Amino acid sequence: MTDAPYTPARRMPWPDPGLTRPVATPLQPSVVYATRDPDALDAQYAGDAPGHVYAREGHPNADVLAQMIDRMEGAAGGIVTGSGMAAIAAIMLGVLKAGDHVIGGDQLYGQSVRMLSSELQRFGIACTLADPTDVACIERALRPETRLILIEVVSNPTLRVADVEGIAALARSRGILLAVDNTFTTPRGFRPFENGADFVVHSVTKLLAGHADATLGYVVAADPELNASMRAAATTWGLTPSPFDCWLAERGLLSFDLRYDRAEDNAARLADHLASLPGVRRVIYPGRPDHPDHNRAGALLNGRFGNMLSFELEGGRREANRFTQACDIAFAPTLGDIASTLSHPVSSSHRRMDPEARNALGITDGFFRLSVGVEPVDALIEGISGAVRAATQA
Ligand SMILES: *Cc1c(COP(=O)(O)O)cnc(C)c1O
Repeated sequence: MTDAPYTPARRMPWPDPGLTRPVATPLQPSVVYATRDPDALDAQYAGDAPGHVYAREGHPNADVLAQMIDRMEGAAGGIVTGSGMAAIAAIMLGVLKAGDHVIGGDQLYGQSVRMLSSELQRFGIACTLADPTDVACIERALRPETRLILIEVVSNPTLRVADVEGIAALARSRGILLAVDNTFTTPRGFRPFENGADFVVHSVTKLLAGHADATLGYVVAADPELNASMRAAATTWGLTPSPFDCWLAERGLLSFDLRYDRAEDNAARLADHLASLPGVRRVIYPGRPDHPDHNRAGALLNGRFGNMLSFELEGGRREANRFTQACDIAFAPTLGDIASTLSHPVSSSHRRMDPEARNALGITDGFFRLSVGVEPVDALIEGISGAVRAATQA
C-alpha cells in the first residue's frame, strides 16, 4: 500500500541564519517578538513577510518540529500542539459544528473516546463508536449528517488492525472526512495520506519524541483550508506547545528511525519467546501468523509490525501483581519510550469499562501490554521470562 519511499527525520534549517549557523537547533522561549513598524507587522500578519509575533500563534521551535514531521508524513503545513489530545481537539474544534455526527473506532485511545462521546455532545455533536476492523460496522453507523470518521490503525491494547482501505473508500464515496491517529504505527509503519486519509494526527509524546520527557501532539490536513481552520482553532483555544518540549522532541526525533527499527526487532523476538513460555496463555503481535489480522497487517503496514505487543498471563490479579513486582521493566501507563514500559489495562486505561464487555475483548486481569524499547534483547527476554516464572510458578 505504502509505496513512496519513507523519508527519515533530519534537522531542518533554523530561520534567519547569519554568517554562521548553529548546528544544533537553538531553543527560543520568547513569548513575544518585536517588529520594526506597523507596516512590517501588517505584512507579517498578512503572511507576506516571515516572522513571529506571539508564541501562542506560533514559534520557531514548533515550526521546526512541524516541518520535520511533515516530511515524514509526506504532508505540508502541519501543526504542533501541546499534547496528542490537543491535536485531536484541533480537528474537532477547527472542523466540526453543532448538528454534525462523528464516528469513532470502538477501541480508540480512552481520552479520545471521552472527547468524542461526552465533550462533543455538549456542543451538539453526536458520536457513534463502531468496529473499524469491519467496514460494514462503520457503514451501519453512518448518518446523513456524518462529517468525520476517526480511527487508529492498530488498536490499544488488543492490537487489532483497522480496515483502513475499506473505510477510506467508504468515506470518499460519501464525502466524509477520515482522520487517522498514527501514534502506534508511526510514519515508518503507515502513511495515512497515501491510504486515503484527510487528516493525520499523532501523540508526539510517544514514539516520535521517544524519551518520556515531552508532552506534544501533531496534526495535519491534506486540504490547506482545513489546516488554516485548525491553526485558527489552535490559536484561539490555546492548544500551543511549549518551545522547550518542541526542542526536546526534535532531539528525540533525530534518532527515531534507529529507535523504531531496534524496538520493532526486539518486539518480534520477544513475542515469539513469550509465546513459547509456560505461564503465558497467549501473545498478541501483528507480526505473528496467529494474529487475527496478520494478513491485513502485512499488506497495510508493509511488513512493519511495530514495537507494541500484548500478552496474557495464566492466573488473575494475584499473578499480575507478582509479575510487575518481579519484573524490572517500568510498570507505567505510557508507550513509545526508549526504554520498555509495561501497562495493565484492567487497572488503568480500561478500569472504567464494564467488566463483561472488557472480558469479551479478552482484556482480563492477566492481560498486559508491553511497549518494547531498545534494550539489548537478551536482557529483555531474560528479565521478562524470570518475572513470568516468578509470577506463575510460585
Ligand atoms: C497517548 C495517545 C493519545 C493522546 O496523546 P497525549 O500526548 O497523551 O495527549 C492519543 N492517541 C493515542 C493512540 C495515544 O496513544
